[in-house]
Amino acid sequence: MDYDCIIAGGSFAGLAAANQIKRGRVLLIDRKEPGTFRRSACGTLLPTVEELGLEDSIIQTFKTIIVRIDSRKVVFNLPYAFCTIDYKKFCQDLLKRSRAEFLKAAVRGVKGDKVITDKGEFSSQCIIDASGWKAVLAGSLKKGFVCKEDLSFGIETVLPYSDNNLNFWWNGFADKGVTWIFPCTGQSRIGIGSYIGQTRLKEGLEGFLEQFDSEIDGLRGGFFPNRLREPTVENIFLAGDSAGQCLPLTGEGIRTALHFGQKCGSIVQRIIEGEIDRKQGLSYYRDFVVGHKGAFDTMAKGQRFLISVPNFWVWFFSRLLSRKIIFKHIISKYRDLA
Ligand SMILES: Cc1cc2nc3c(=O)[nH]c(=O)nc-3n(C[C@H](O)[C@H](O)[C@H](O)COP(=O)(O)OP(=O)(O)OC[C@H]3O[C@@H](n4cnc5c(N)ncnc54)[C@H](O)[C@@H]3O)c2cc1C
Repeated sequence: MDYDCIIAGGSFAGLAAANQIKRGRVLLIDRKEPGTFRRSACGTLLPTVEELGLEDSIIQTFKTIIVRIDSRKVVFNLPYAFCTIDYKKFCQDLLKRSRAEFLKAAVRGVKGDKVITDKGEFSSQCIIDASGWKAVLAGSLKKGFVCKEDLSFGIETVLPYSDNNLNFWWNGFADKGVTWIFPCTGQSRIGIGSYIGQTRLKEGLEGFLEQFDSEIDGLRGGFFPNRLREPTVENIFLAGDSAGQCLPLTGEGIRTALHFGQKCGSIVQRIIEGEIDRKQGLSYYRDFVVGHKGAFDTMAKGQRFLISVPNFWVWFFSRLLSRKIIFKHIISKYRDLA
């Protein structure tokens, strides 16, 4: 029952952390087999997947994003391709590569160095909360850790529809939100999201699907954070959505969960090897995350701007940003963020 590291959550952040830990006993806990419950549209930058050597999980790649605002259209030509991925394959490959023991259990909370689950208690000096937006472990230590005002919400369905581009519609079907089509070779993940955490989105999605003569075929989704939270609470590390590391404005949380999860795992590795102690490790990780705060704040400002101005200004600025030189500069800064 004693481990060198315990990771709660076997999705992007948890698996990225587990992959960095090359020594010691690591326990990865999730209530579902990794990769079996996809919540997200699973679109990310192609280089992110390539750098991890997980090309087998790529479903479709894109070089163009089309954003529609009322009757206007803005085309963004990407210098780096974007792709949709097979979540199951991605997670299972990461799991296979790690040396973590997997336990299918529901995590309830943490007490000192003990993680409490429905399958018993497990202890470790290094505990990582990668349980997603609910931050199950940190939330059990700190009341009010999860703040509903800092959450966006999205749902999506999968339908047979093919396209060569990533498509977004601004504000048409969701108030202060977007509708999207992420093609996946022969079918598409079609969803709707609200920046203000509105959860009654089904009608909006139904309305959107009318133009394709289609109906919702099963729904998935949930909340995703749009504000950074504390990256450590007491003696535990947080990575991914649990630490609010999903980017505001774009809602991109996979790449950041991998980025911070990897860093967290590599720091834990140093603690296990005795190179640093836990206190130092927690402090290094906090500093690393705080180093990204400026970028997250800028994205949050962009999100606040987007939801507060009339559609005309959204179109005007989108068009300006889509200019080749400006977009190339912005997208390279955006990529360097994680
Ligand atoms: C509709 C929608 C579409 C999205 N589309 C994209 C996109 O296209 N691209 C992108 O980059 N981001 C997207 N996101 C955001 C992205 O999904 C998240 O930011 C990302 O999944 C965060 O990864 P994570 O590992 O931190 O958390 P999660 O992926 O949420 O994983 C948390 C893990 O913890 C487990 N868990 C939770 N509670 C417990 C418990 N009590 N006990 C045991 N295990 C538990 C869960 O089973 C899960 O495996 C989208 C989000 C939504 C809701």
